[in-house]
Amino acid sequence: MNNLPKQYKKLYRQLSEYIDEGRMLTSPLELLAHGTDASFYRLIPKMVIKANDIAEVSRILANCNQMEIPVTFRAAGTSLSGQAITDSVLVIAGDNWKKHNILENGEKIRLQPGIIGAHANNLLKPYKRKIGPDPASINSAMIGGIAANNASGMCCGTKQNSYQTLDSMKVLMNDGTLLDTADEGSRASFRNTHGHLLDELSTLAQNIRSKKPLAERIRDKFKMKNTTGYSLNALVDFEDPFEILQHLMIGSEGTLGFIGEITYKTVNEDPFKASSLMIFSDNETAGRAVYRLKSEPVSAVELMDRASLKSMENADGVPGYIKDLSPEACSLLVQTGAESHEQLQEQIEIIIKALDDVPTIIPVSFTDKPEEYNNYWKIRKGLYPSVGAMRKTGTTVIIEDVVFAVKDIAEAIGALQELFVKYGYNESVIFGHALEGNLHFVFNQNFDDQAEIDRYERFMDELAVLVTDRFDGALKAEHGTGRNMAPYVEKEWGEEAYEIMKRIKAVFDPKDLLNPGVILNNDPKVHLKNLKPMPAAHESIDKCTECGFCESACVSHGMTMSPRQRITVYREMQRLKETGEQPEILASLEQDYDYKSVETCATDGLCALACPVGINTGDLVKHLRHEKNSSREKKAASRVASNMDKVTGITRVGLNVVNGVHTVLGTKAMDAIATGFRKVSGNNLPQWNPYLPKGAPKIDTNLPVNGNPRKVVYFPSCINRTMGVSKDYDEKISLTSKVKQLLKKAGYEIIYPENLSNQCCGMPYSSKGFREQSKDKSNRLEQALLKASAQGKYPVLSDMSPCLQSMKENIGEPLKLYDPIEFTLKFLTQYLDFTPADETISVFTVCSAKKMGQEEELLKLAEMCATKVVVPETNCCGFAGDRGFSHPELTAHGLRTLKEQHPEEITRGFSTSRTCEIGLTEHSGISYKSILYLVDEVTTPKKNRAKKEDETAQLTGSPDI
Ligand SMILES: Cc1cc2nc3c(=O)[nH]c(=O)nc-3n(C[C@H](O)[C@H](O)[C@H](O)COP(=O)(O)OP(=O)(O)OC[C@H]3O[C@@H](n4cnc5c(N)ncnc54)[C@H](O)[C@@H]3O)c2cc1C
Repeated sequence: MNNLPKQYKKLYRQLSEYIDEGRMLTSPLELLAHGTDASFYRLIPKMVIKANDIAEVSRILANCNQMEIPVTFRAAGTSLSGQAITDSVLVIAGDNWKKHNILENGEKIRLQPGIIGAHANNLLKPYKRKIGPDPASINSAMIGGIAANNASGMCCGTKQNSYQTLDSMKVLMNDGTLLDTADEGSRASFRNTHGHLLDELSTLAQNIRSKKPLAERIRDKFKMKNTTGYSLNALVDFEDPFEILQHLMIGSEGTLGFIGEITYKTVNEDPFKASSLMIFSDNETAGRAVYRLKSEPVSAVELMDRASLKSMENADGVPGYIKDLSPEACSLLVQTGAESHEQLQEQIEIIIKALDDVPTIIPVSFTDKPEEYNNYWKIRKGLYPSVGAMRKTGTTVIIEDVVFAVKDIAEAIGALQELFVKYGYNESVIFGHALEGNLHFVFNQNFDDQAEIDRYERFMDELAVLVTDRFDGALKAEHGTGRNMAPYVEKEWGEEAYEIMKRIKAVFDPKDLLNPGVILNNDPKVHLKNLKPMPAAHESIDKCTECGFCESACVSHGMTMSPRQRITVYREMQRLKETGEQPEILASLEQDYDYKSVETCATDGLCALACPVGINTGDLVKHLRHEKNSSREKKAASRVASNMDKVTGITRVGLNVVNGVHTVLGTKAMDAIATGFRKVSGNNLPQWNPYLPKGAPKIDTNLPVNGNPRKVVYFPSCINRTMGVSKDYDEKISLTSKVKQLLKKAGYEIIYPENLSNQCCGMPYSSKGFREQSKDKSNRLEQALLKASAQGKYPVLSDMSPCLQSMKENIGEPLKLYDPIEFTLKFLTQYLDFTPADETISVFTVCSAKKMGQEEELLKLAEMCATKVVVPETNCCGFAGDRGFSHPELTAHGLRTLKEQHPEEITRGFSTSRTCEIGLTEHSGISYKSILYLVDEVTTPKKNRAKKEDETAQLTGSPDI
């Protein structure tokens, strides 16, 4: 706050009357972290506000309008053209903007702007509907950004985008006035206060309609995808000024007002789908095929040029023949979707027939098997990442988004390829939504030196000439104009249409305060300014494009930092260290980075699953923790690692003592005392919570060996060897005893690894940056498991998913390692009958199980165990091993919406990680424990089968065990 310019200080004071300080960010770290979107531009805001609701944004707008301070809105910040950044006030409408209503049996959906597109589709799934817009970024992009960019994707074309599927909207104008276009009263009051705006829109519409060529040109240009400039089609498609207004908001990139709520008409989700990868000898033939397909029952036609195919030819699942194609070949990935299997087959025949006389290299065939067509789509979806991942460190990956008439597509591809050669962008690949004439091309660019920037400038100038003069196409189909294409809007549209755009902006935002410089900009070189530095920082993150896909998967996002923000700030710290610039800023960044980045990262690696180039920011954080660990701490970790039996023993006693005190004092007093102690210790003592278990009983590993051929090596994790039942449990025995009971029931003989009380998978050490200790523990465990399993002959069961995942990462063949989910489904189901409990339960897939692809499997198992299963939509619980004890705020943040996702009838939840279950119990109000308790509860031995299997196994040596 102290470093703010005077005018912003005054604004801050005004805002603090109704916004708490925690939601108004002004520190250098916060400003830098939020100064980035997915584009290659950077602006550092003066103030970031995490807004709560429409009333609040209305007041912010009124205050800023009065003080003439510019405001930019942000949803998920995945924009590519530099439209979600500012050097003034950034208002974020993401986390607190998740409310929705499903209307008319799924025919419509009302959404707040912070809902992620894919979540809206999940809500609509039971109704077999979805929202129209389908950007490739739908798992991260939010409704506010999808609408404000008029984003679209492979299937939605120009018929199902936000513009076409818009029903109504709540809009805030520049002065904070609210208009609800669905509400007659609101319209009437708006007419009173903003009649001049409505009149101007009507006048503009009348003017255009009176100029036939202009009206026709606008209509023609919007037959193709187009997000260059404003949605001028609103002025030819509608007469009602309210309809014009709300349709102009679509694609307005936050420059005309704030979208506070939107109601979409939903579209059909085809239940049956098939795809075909068609290969043509050259672009011309592929272009001819696209033209034919335009009038056939296809839902997507994705073009991939030869360079695209080449960039993916070594990826998993890519057909081998791709490598042998000629340099001129071109491909189309075609999808068709239908209501029934029969209809799908009919459509396939129609499509194949339509292409009868268009020669292909390989005969056209469709597959309706998801495992096969998903492989094709993986090629298409992997194109941007593959170029991004191959780029030289320090360069930026640029994705462009141009449109041509479908009839011109083959010629346009050739022209683009010539342009790449001319400017030396040799690694460029072209792909795109061919049915709409929308081509993307991806290339790498260095913005570090002026000669490179000059090359980019000349290339962009010539591209603009090629697209607009030669082909009369559009420079942006779906990514929005932003700052990137602002200099070329007039070139594409001509003077007359451009003047109309200027009048639109002037009447909505006369003081030019809403996202100024975006869409319309007088500076012909604005696209070459404020370029984002991409310095080499650390090999684990150098490939990051800052696209922001990781944010929706990150548990600390919104509390401290997201993976993208961790990387952005780390890069800048490295840059400042290198250059010696701004030492005071560097000091401030370093000071805040420790807690906001290093301490509060869950290192769960879910970000890597969402990242197009597979970056696990947790690896960077573990590296930083490693660097930070003092030699004293390393020695202490080694002592703990070599004395695990003693440490777990002492912890067990400690847990029993704490549990005893809890029983005597009661929860309230215990909570007060424990919280007091934690405060006094400067948060060094772990946080107590009422669901902390008592100590687990020591495991008796001396089991009788009875020659049973059905053997399993059971490795109880150190956590479960230490933690027993807690007060919320409806069970009396600890998990390790329960597993023993369950395995016995299924007829297994248990083998424990040697020296069990000292064994550990190493994960608790690696997550804290103690690499050597982790490696040592993991190596010792591997040796013990090899011996116990007779060199991999018997399966190994780990009772915690995180440990199993860590073991899988470090220990390989010949060991066969299983977590509770996989082991139960693969082995126990053979020997046990399941009778589902007649109740609704909740199951939570912990991060490690997610990373191992176990989400569906856990659901399957849960459905065998209970009649109804609810799966909360929460990514990571934030417990992060044992971090939930030292940083309980992370768990509280990760599980902030868990309670509301549990219907009242649920009384029990199940999972596969003991520490995560403590957090889940605390924040849901229902008891969570291992799914193995439930498996034991609902199963009985399959007597006949088990006997028969054993006899066979004894004769043949069972393949499973
Ligand atoms: C790898 C990658 C692939 C992509 N693929 C596609 C694609 O296939 N199709 C496509 O169309 N785009 C694509 N994009 C671009 C981008 O993801 C989309 O345009 C997306 O819809 C932006 O949504 P967002 O939530 O990130 O919005 P943001 O980037 O946060 O904001 C977008 C714009 O909307 C404004 N805004 C945000 N919220 C509001 C609000 N409540 N009211 C008014 N204005 C608001 C912002 O000021 C900004 O101008 C891709 C991006 C990446 C990185």
